[in-house]
Amino acid sequence: MSRLVRWSDIRHQDRALGLIRRALSGGRVPHALLFHGPEGVGKEMAALALAGALLCSRRERGGGAEEALFGEAPPAEIEACGECPPCHCLAAGTHPDFQLVERKLARVHPDAAVRRTKALFLGVDVIRHFVIDATGRRPALSSSRVFVLRDAERMNEEAQNALLKTLEEPPGRAHLILLSSSAERLLPTVRSRCQGIEFGLLPRAFIENELVGPAGLKSEPAAALAALAGGSLGAARRWASAGVAGEVEPIADVLVGVGRSGVEAAAKALLERAEELAPRLHGRDLADESDGVSEGDGDEGADEGGGRSGKSSSASVPTDELRVGVRLVLMICAAVLRDALIVREQADSALLLVAPAARQSAAIAAGMGGGLDEGIRGIAQAEAMLDRNVAPQLCVERFLLTLQGVPLR
Ligand SMILES: [Zn+2]
Repeated sequence: MSRLVRWSDIRHQDRALGLIRRALSGGRVPHALLFHGPEGVGKEMAALALAGALLCSRRERGGGAEEALFGEAPPAEIEACGECPPCHCLAAGTHPDFQLVERKLARVHPDAAVRRTKALFLGVDVIRHFVIDATGRRPALSSSRVFVLRDAERMNEEAQNALLKTLEEPPGRAHLILLSSSAERLLPTVRSRCQGIEFGLLPRAFIENELVGPAGLKSEPAAALAALAGGSLGAARRWASAGVAGEVEPIADVLVGVGRSGVEAAAKALLERAEELAPRLHGRDLADESDGVSEGDGDEGADEGGGRSGKSSSASVPTDELRVGVRLVLMICAAVLRDALIVREQADSALLLVAPAARQSAAIAAGMGGGLDEGIRGIAQAEAMLDRNVAPQLCVERFLLTLQGVPLR
């Protein structure tokens, strides 16, 4: 993806963009910013648009001293021109004053020992070399340097502490933009040194449109994924490319058949779906990072720094990846059961969340009308068990038992 992003490319974030653009046009962009909010809603796109505006050389001239001498400086441009050498370099991904900081930078760290580490978090070596030391150098092409820290909450405590001084007074004209979908995991001392800008969830209809158009999905699966994604275009896109829409019916079939197959076999079948999905959710390198969708953006357990473990066979899925898959399967189960409730109450079928499984929802409504509410509560219980690191098989069985009429305790 081109790194030259227009403000108009970012949708439904008027409040956040208003704050950023006002700061830009007033020439008062804070040196340390924290863009926080759900994953996949445009934080990274906004950071790139801001970086473009800060690095563009036409913008400098626009707000520069020469025009000011004549007493009528034009308002500083808030959009990168796209034509000057810095804009060209930024678009090509070769701007020397722009640095996207992420875990996989460990792989290109000058120290071989750092290169060998499994980059599970954003470590202090990466932060020192690519941010702290780099902020001290003069810009090479533009008048300032911009550092965008992807998944900033993945900095470990040592890295966050090391960054404090730079956040407080960045040397020279450096701008640090921290991106986080779990900002509560950052140290309070880091948060307090940044100007926070909050990004919100996106409308479901917008996500659905994005899936039908650019992602090329049919309208029914697109609507289902948009409903499941709950306002995150990033999640919806990742699920679309991982083929999640195709899993909805098989998962719903397992729920329909639980009476015949029994709880243990049904749980096994659901786990198989999760095992199928997990590598596709994690391993795929998303070429399209637009709208802040990045590899592993806000996704627990994602590890582009070494997710393909050479040791394990392709059949065995790492536990943290499997949990992400199980969560998604449970989420789909919950949507199917809620649809069954809608069918049972004879409500408007337009309210169905996952239309691809409408047949199964109807069968579930007919077959286990009474146990539905308990089943939905059972899913919440299973999710809580997953949080406590209970084995996935047990979590899923607990949920399926509630569907079979075994009440929660
Ligand atoms: Zn430019």
